[in-house]
Amino acid sequence: MTQSTPANLDAFWMPFTANRQFKAQPRMLVSAQGMYYQSDDGRSIIDGTAGLWCTNAGHGRTEITQAVSKQIQELDFAPTFQMGHPLAFELANRLIKHTPEGINKVFFTNSGSESVDTALKIALAYHKARGESSRTRLIGREKGYHGTGFGGISVGGLGNNRKGFGPLLSGVDHLKHAWTPGTEFTKGLPKEGAHLADELESMVALHGAETIAAVIVEPIAGSGGVWMPPQGYLKRLCEITKKYGILLILDEVITGYGRIGDAFAATHFNVTPDIITTAKGLTNGAVPMGAVFISDNIHQAFMSGPEEVIELFHGYTYSGHPVSAAAAIAALDTYEQEGLFNKAKQLGGYFEEQLHNLREFDVVKDIRNYGLVGAIEFKSTDKFGERGYKVFEHCFWHGNALVRCTADTIALSPPLILEKEHINELMNALHCAIRSLN
Ligand code: PLP
Repeated sequence: MTQSTPANLDAFWMPFTANRQFKAQPRMLVSAQGMYYQSDDGRSIIDGTAGLWCTNAGHGRTEITQAVSKQIQELDFAPTFQMGHPLAFELANRLIKHTPEGINKVFFTNSGSESVDTALKIALAYHKARGESSRTRLIGREKGYHGTGFGGISVGGLGNNRKGFGPLLSGVDHLKHAWTPGTEFTKGLPKEGAHLADELESMVALHGAETIAAVIVEPIAGSGGVWMPPQGYLKRLCEITKKYGILLILDEVITGYGRIGDAFAATHFNVTPDIITTAKGLTNGAVPMGAVFISDNIHQAFMSGPEEVIELFHGYTYSGHPVSAAAAIAALDTYEQEGLFNKAKQLGGYFEEQLHNLREFDVVKDIRNYGLVGAIEFKSTDKFGERGYKVFEHCFWHGNALVRCTADTIALSPPLILEKEHINELMNALHCAIRSLN
């Protein structure tokens, strides 16, 4: 049974939404199956965004539904503060089979924002535990998005998400946006730009390595407009952090769980960070859950005090929630059985080819892609963001396609179950929408 839309939409203050604009002409999704949503006006809408970068195995997966339903009947809730339940441990064991070697501890959260705050807190506490209390500085990057907690917006590099919420965390610095002019329309990773990681050396010279706790970056920056790392950039950044004892946190909330052709971008790019933050695809988006992966080395630093003392004064009521854990195990089963972590490698080439055909339009300023992530950036009119929004709206109302707009960029991150015909369907919707701009 699907829900009908209430006549009054006033009470729900919608997140990251122009509420008045939305409520004047609501876009309502009422059910979903496979690659498609159903809208409240009875249309089938192809999902070009895996919800919000999360339903990697597509919608309505019965394995997950059944696991959730069974679990909620068997054990609806159990605390993980001083108590345990088997599924949280089982899930942790399953997950670390996919993480880079040496990253084998898992801290559960409920969202990407909580994963980021958890990672930042662990980084600070780690240095303190080792007697390096002066390492308190956190370094993010321009255009970085790390959720909306105070930690995440402090290291984040998106002005609108920071302005108005000050003073934020002190002692934070930001690396430059890792992009070089002239690399527009690159297929895959830009060749130019690994040297941009060297800015960390300048920060060390300026602040002193002994003041820097951690650097956090997204392997592929998503919400800031979809930016691919230049070839060799992440490796270089990793080397510099290791040289100075600075922790590297890779925020894999969107790249985790198969988005670019491996379970994690860290393994894909052959970079071993100290901490990896994830959420979204962990449960295929079905119920909220996040997971932070921590190196054994960091974990070990907390384990030297008296055994009866809590090692980390941090956690959430729902850390390792049994229902979320059941959903995550079922999602992981599905990803593994269907080989979905490899899917972006198989279809990435076709996706790239089709996406770059959109270059024919004059209004297109840049196209970026990697794995099953794509972005089309438009030349802005004097009303910044106007073209991106118009394309998004046109796709929804006339192309029966859900894409995501961030300012003048359309982001694509389809479920990993898609096939060539779905790519064609998405591209047709985009062709029509972009043509309507001219
Ligand atoms: N980090 C990254 C890289 C993200 O893309 C997001 C969300 O899109 C977050 C953190 C925050 O996740 P959540 O919205 O689940 O708090």
